[in-house]
Amino acid sequence: MGPLVGSVEAGGTKFVCAVGTGPDDLRGEERFPTTTPGETLDRVLAYFRAQVERHSPLAAVGVGCFGPVDLDAGSSTYGHVTSTPKPGWSGANVVGPLAAGLGVPVGFDTDVNAAALGEGRWGAARGLDTFLYLTVGTGIGGGSVVHGQPLHGLIHPEMGHVRVIRDPARDPFAGRCPYHGDCLEGLAAGPALEDRWGQAAETLPADHEAWGLEADYLGQALADLVLVLSPQRIILGGGVMEQAHLLPMIRGRVAALLAGYVRAPAILERIDDFIVAPALGHRAGILGGVALGQSILTAAERPRRGRT
Ligand code: ADP
Ligand code: ZN
Repeated sequence: MGPLVGSVEAGGTKFVCAVGTGPDDLRGEERFPTTTPGETLDRVLAYFRAQVERHSPLAAVGVGCFGPVDLDAGSSTYGHVTSTPKPGWSGANVVGPLAAGLGVPVGFDTDVNAAALGEGRWGAARGLDTFLYLTVGTGIGGGSVVHGQPLHGLIHPEMGHVRVIRDPARDPFAGRCPYHGDCLEGLAAGPALEDRWGQAAETLPADHEAWGLEADYLGQALADLVLVLSPQRIILGGGVMEQAHLLPMIRGRVAALLAGYVRAPAILERIDDFIVAPALGHRAGILGGVALGQSILTAAERPRRGRT
């Protein structure tokens, strides 16, 4: 546990807000649709002001945001959504209004990096320092913690848009990513399943051929991510992963594609513990915001400790 902080799971469809200190103390969760930036952020501010009245002041706020976002603290557009087809949100400043309106530090990261932090602090990646969180839902996005820190780099990882091999004879669907067509998201996110098969992913029976193909695409991407990032564990969340039969199929594909090359017992002997569901379930995102808010306080304390 830690200090009371506010959390925002800022999605393109809905915003979820809560205050809390951890999984056993998450209070007053509220959700509302994502409308204009001004209206939506005003609702977030009103929500936190009401929570402060009811409980106590917040030490910080953590925001896990849909993207792409600017995470470069030295940039004039730090804390903004950079480009999105979501009307009104291209260039929208998210951190500015919240920091000014609440007067507390605001931690800001991608939605999936926040979820990864939450799973690392309280969930399926506890005790690990390098791991991945991938969501397979309306889109596909991946966040990672590397040596204990969320990975940003040039901008931030965009794991959902990696290329996978599509055999047109097996899968004539050309994909629906507006940038790449048949990238991973274009082929394997929920809306791609719906387009390809003519029915919502949640209505496809477990023995439908859709799932073998889905496991293959996700397996290809995860095998590549294992080779590139060397994660100690991979956590798969999002609506499509509600299909419980999919997880073992993906593990099978990853193992087959890696073909014994990565000589780690985690993969060779214990792949069931290597590719797993989020331990925090649907709360990974909102608890990730709590972890993010608390982590910026810890980071701020470090130099002070060093001086004393
Ligand atoms: P979001 O990505 O918008 O945060 P979700 O993770 O719930 O939300 O993803 C929504 C997508 O997941 C939709 O395309 C939907 O068809 C699909 N989906 C939701 N529930 C299921 C399910 N039980 N089985 C398969 N697909 C699902
Ligand atoms: Zn793409």
